[in-house]
Amino acid sequence: MAQHNKGQSPKKIASERIEILFDQAYLNRSNPALANRYVSLAREIAMRQRLRMPKQFRRSFCPVCHAYFVPGENFRVRVQHGKVICTCLVCGTVTRYPLS
Ligand SMILES: [Zn+2]
Repeated sequence: MAQHNKGQSPKKIASERIEILFDQAYLNRSNPALANRYVSLAREIAMRQRLRMPKQFRRSFCPVCHAYFVPGENFRVRVQHGKVICTCLVCGTVTRYPLS
């Protein structure tokens, strides 16, 4: 695993690791401390490689306190005026994005 894999860019490896970490966060969503740890590790990897967080993960955690979102547990989703409104119940941050 630790061996250098020729032909694979560090960015690609990083994005694979981010996927694995979000998988683990999802599997451990009943344990917020652990899930949040996976999110922060994924963010560290993304920052180190200057990657944007992949779209499918960007909205799965709080942009302010980085808590992994568990539906019905620590965040609330509402649709209003054609926009999705997500409220983080950990720190109270509200994020809005257009309904696609
Ligand atoms: Zn938050």
